[in-house]
Amino acid sequence: MIKQDYKSSRIKRNFPTARLFHHLKLRWGEISAVAGGITLLAIALASGDEDTIPPITADENQASFSEPLTSDEPKFIANGERLELPLKWSDKLVEAPQMLPDNPKPNEELITEKEVTVRSGDTLSAIFKRNGFSARDVYLVTKDPVAEETLRKIRPGQHLLFGTDKNNQLQTLYYTIAVNETLQIKREGEEFVAELKKRPIEIRQAFASGSINDSLFSAGKQAGLSDNLIVKLANIFGWDIDFVLDVRKNDSFALIYQTKYLDGEYIGDGEIVAAQFVNQGNIYRAVRYTDKDGEANYFTPEGNSMRKAFLRAPVNFMYISSNFNPGRLHPVLKKRRAHRGIDYAAPVGTPIYAAGDGKVIASSSNQYNGKYVFIQHGNSIVTKYLHMSRRAVSYGKRVKQGQVIGYVGATGLVSGPHLHYEFVVNGVHRNPRTVKLPEAQPVNSSEKERFQKKSEPLLASLEAYQRLNSLAAAN
Ligand SMILES: [Zn+2]
Repeated sequence: MIKQDYKSSRIKRNFPTARLFHHLKLRWGEISAVAGGITLLAIALASGDEDTIPPITADENQASFSEPLTSDEPKFIANGERLELPLKWSDKLVEAPQMLPDNPKPNEELITEKEVTVRSGDTLSAIFKRNGFSARDVYLVTKDPVAEETLRKIRPGQHLLFGTDKNNQLQTLYYTIAVNETLQIKREGEEFVAELKKRPIEIRQAFASGSINDSLFSAGKQAGLSDNLIVKLANIFGWDIDFVLDVRKNDSFALIYQTKYLDGEYIGDGEIVAAQFVNQGNIYRAVRYTDKDGEANYFTPEGNSMRKAFLRAPVNFMYISSNFNPGRLHPVLKKRRAHRGIDYAAPVGTPIYAAGDGKVIASSSNQYNGKYVFIQHGNSIVTKYLHMSRRAVSYGKRVKQGQVIGYVGATGLVSGPHLHYEFVVNGVHRNPRTVKLPEAQPVNSSEKERFQKKSEPLLASLEAYQRLNSLAAAN
């Protein structure tokens, strides 16, 4: 005799007869499939063994199902002796039912599905009405508290999937909340029952590395990185390296990053967890660390912050470096430095970022500077941005590091579109690309040990990957 207990929350003692009947039908289908499996196991166990296990019939399953269910784990008893199922097998027992069609009711085979996109300003009632459903349908669907609460959060652009039978009566409603989460609402007689289905996202780690030939962007692409990851990589080192002007041929990078999988299928990238950038022979390494308060930042292997009070470059290299030519840069710069600023040749309209937090002390234009913005940072530092096509901030405004303050142009006394950038400390012009910048907070001393424990294995893996990679390249 077999005792089966399904852990599914869908079995409840007190539901209406119609639903019970429906569930029983559903269970029988599942049980016979499981029973088939058990027979196979029984045969396997019986061979070479004196104990024989009686054949299993659907009747026995049916009978056992109506008995009180007490055990949590699927177990079966042969000749009065209880045999514990091997772990793998018990996994299968639990999984098998989910692989069967969820709803064997005959009329549901004729369900017509219609996908509806939520528009801006939409309410559930408006969506229902637009698609030919009544206010009573809305009422019935949202009677279930899970459905009510979840459907209140629908946003423009999201999708609802309506399923109707041949009489145009609403039978199912699916709402995709996230890539791994769906609200499934199904008619059960006169009412609707809602269930949230969430599948876990599996995080794996991937390694990539590359050497720069013409640009970080194309090297990143060649290494299989998405645009997003390339930007993230540059952002990690953006306080140390000017990715517009300082990157050279044979600079190299390596990184370990997260990849996300759902049901074994790749769905996207996560964060970079460790990275290295070699710029003109200087090695920069960074590791992502989430502190006890849950805040994640990048730190050097010693626990110093990668973040600094100023960005090295106030423009995004992604707009510029696709046609970057290392050989061309230096002589131009040398000449330009004479006029106490740095020029970033960039297309008109390229966004310009505030290099650091501060206050706008000038937003104006004249015949030499064209349209320009000056920002005061603390007491001693002023940054200046000249020749803009358009300014995005006004006098007196507070700005955050990385905030767009204007766009590259060719206004004022210029020969072509570029950003002229100056970094002034106590009235003296300094080279923003080499000036020593104050760092943000290092890892808290109370967390130093935890940081070491978490970061060391990551940095070691990064190194090991690189060694393997260069060995593979040498062979
Ligand atoms: Zn200039």
